[in-house]
Amino acid sequence: MIAATLLCAAISPAYAATPQPSRANPGRAPSITTPDDVPKQKAAVLSYWNAIDENDWARWVRCYAPPLRAEYESFAFNPTNQEEGMGVLAIKSAQVISMERVDDMYALMFYKDLHTYYSSGSYACYLVEINTFVKPENDYFSTGKSKHICIIVKDDAGWHMGTIYAYSTEYENALRGVTNDFVDFITQPTTITIKDKKGVIHKNISFTEAIVNITCNEIGAMGYKTDAVYANIMAIKMLCWWAKVAKFQEGDGYDIGYPNVTYLDHFNTNASQTKTIRSAVDVMKPYYMVSSSQTGSKLFDSDYDGYASKGKGSGTLSQPESQKMALNGKTWQEILHYFYDNSAFNNPNVGIVKIGHECKFAKASSYSSNSTQHWLACKICGAKITVVNHTWVQYTGYAKCSVCGRLKEVAASSIMNYLK
Ligand SMILES: [Zn+2]
Ligand SMILES: [Zn+2]
Repeated sequence: MIAATLLCAAISPAYAATPQPSRANPGRAPSITTPDDVPKQKAAVLSYWNAIDENDWARWVRCYAPPLRAEYESFAFNPTNQEEGMGVLAIKSAQVISMERVDDMYALMFYKDLHTYYSSGSYACYLVEINTFVKPENDYFSTGKSKHICIIVKDDAGWHMGTIYAYSTEYENALRGVTNDFVDFITQPTTITIKDKKGVIHKNISFTEAIVNITCNEIGAMGYKTDAVYANIMAIKMLCWWAKVAKFQEGDGYDIGYPNVTYLDHFNTNASQTKTIRSAVDVMKPYYMVSSSQTGSKLFDSDYDGYASKGKGSGTLSQPESQKMALNGKTWQEILHYFYDNSAFNNPNVGIVKIGHECKFAKASSYSSNSTQHWLACKICGAKITVVNHTWVQYTGYAKCSVCGRLKEVAASSIMNYLK
């Protein structure tokens, strides 16, 4: 199917030699690429990186497909973004080392503004290795060699840039037929960088506050049942978590934004609704959702929207359907399993999703103890967290742990020893 097309250095012969299984996705037709297209596609990718190399941001904007340009224009010509060197704006020079056409599955459904191109097969994916000098370095770009997936799209005028995102070593797994939009689990992030609907980037805001705000915007004013609220929070949280770790939207200098999640817009909850959402986010704080153990318990793209249900196993949690299910007595876990089990929203099947928790976020507020140690128990599974020996302080006839307050009787003889 796809012959590897390399510009300069070969990446690895193994990539070129291995036939790549194309993964079907209902929202994505196979890419239509004629032999004539290939040089034009490569030129589109190359001119994109050349514009960055020359720091010609007006040209960089014009490399994108016309409907996408307004957003990139407001990003590139925002004085704060330029001053702080957000995303690609921090790149001082960039040379393309190699370029290779890769499987259609890299056209992630996450990029909703590219769906029209996907549905007509007017797209292609390239793996590009570049060498960059970056100043100041940011969370998305640093000096040296790096690999990126470029999704290019076609309209009547020809091929344009659609988006870029960071390539990870998961690519090798993809070639073996495992995954590519899966990323390794890391503990819950503390911050996230989000773009709101107006294009303003909010840098390193508290992860928890972001989830509260997005949930309020999405469903906070709808009076959903508690289990529906919990399921929505989980979908939003895992989407943000995945996007942060996977460095999607890297070129634009943020982790996630509109239209994937709505931050700081339609924030029309009243004080009591906001409070309800805030405490629900707090209850959900320890929980996470990952792919099945068989698929490596990975973070994955949990799609989320406000439209009618796309059905069981669609990989997209529907807000109205989640409420309907909660009204029918389904728990938040059942709702998540319904939408995400065996889904392949972006790519491979996630299997039966695993809902787990991080004990450190579910610490009891008071100590439990035995005769030698005290600990804080996990409120969900009872596991002992931070187990340490008591710090005994001796009193006449008894001793007391100065940390947990446990008492023990002390024989008179040992008091005499202690006093000696
Ligand atoms: Zn636990
Ligand atoms: Zn103690």
